[in-house]
Amino acid sequence: MHGLFLHCRPGFESECASEIQARAAALDVSGYCKAKTGAAYAVFVTTDGADAEKLHLSLPFTELIFTRQWFRILALANDLQITDRISGLVAACGTDSQRADELVLETADTNEGKELQALCRKIERPLRSALISAVHLQQTDTHPTRRLHVCFMSTTAAYVGIADCVNSSPYPMGIPRLRFPGGAPSRSTLKLEEALLTFLSPDERASELRSGMRAVDLGAAPGGWTWQLLQRGMQVIAVDNGAMAPALLESGLVEHRREDGFHFRPETPVDWMVCDIVEQPIRIAELASRWLCDGWCRRTVFNLKLPMKKRYQEVMLCLERVEQHLTQAGLGYRLACKQLYHDREEVTVFVSLQ
Ligand code: SAM
Repeated sequence: MHGLFLHCRPGFESECASEIQARAAALDVSGYCKAKTGAAYAVFVTTDGADAEKLHLSLPFTELIFTRQWFRILALANDLQITDRISGLVAACGTDSQRADELVLETADTNEGKELQALCRKIERPLRSALISAVHLQQTDTHPTRRLHVCFMSTTAAYVGIADCVNSSPYPMGIPRLRFPGGAPSRSTLKLEEALLTFLSPDERASELRSGMRAVDLGAAPGGWTWQLLQRGMQVIAVDNGAMAPALLESGLVEHRREDGFHFRPETPVDWMVCDIVEQPIRIAELASRWLCDGWCRRTVFNLKLPMKKRYQEVMLCLERVEQHLTQAGLGYRLACKQLYHDREEVTVFVSLQ
């Protein structure tokens, strides 16, 4: 079997499938998708391994919105012996001549997947030793470049595949395990933390999010996103008719404005605008475009809430709209969009003017 294995949020398999099909077609790679609702993954099947490899190497992982993690499939080992799964998994690595230098055992992000994680933990050490002996895996002291994925579907079946470490998520199953910060007023705080981790490099986080910078948080209450900006020493105008957590207001760095986020505009331009208002996605896309095109901010993170049926098409429409506005205004920009692990029925968009 040849193709790509794509992890996604449970319930977003058809969006993940639509996206990879569109991206593959644009690269002239033919194939079809297998995606079952609730399975938390999709498989893009190609006619041969070369097509799968072409897609995996030429498509930047960071451009995929609905894929959390991916790997190129070497085999589906679906008749593993309960008494000796290791031989079957080693055999599934086949004759791929290049060795991997990292191993990850994983499952789909479902309840069934969680039940298989004990098996992953149990098998990891003996499997690692067997893979090293069979020269499918080598130990390295430097940054790993090729990751071997073993993704259990059941106690007797697993997809085995390879990922390029640079062109995939650094997190197992694409899930960054962030700890909820005690002082933050809402769990939403993790969405902005993950967004900043995903869209900015460590250097950019140091230079673009620092003390003295100013931000506007639209739809700020109770203040989980504002809290993230405060942690970085920034001053925040929090726009929301709802109440902000008192501790944030006591910091002296937050100005709370009980106004409509769609009408508010800052007296002077700010560095960042972030927006978590629950509204029609296209209205949010228009709002963010206006902030950028009118020079009210240079960087933005905003969420597009997706309760409707045609979620993939809606995201594409919103992103095209933002890009049209920025291009018409003659602005250079970097735009990225991802369904983050901490996102629910939504995706997060980042835009930075160049
Ligand atoms: N990001 C916030 C946090 O981390 O705590 C949570 C925001 S919550 C999902 C959405 C917020 O948007 C609500 O507090 C709501 O009052 C606010 N909201 C909805 N419509 C708004 C509007 N037109 N202008 C400003 N805020 C709005």
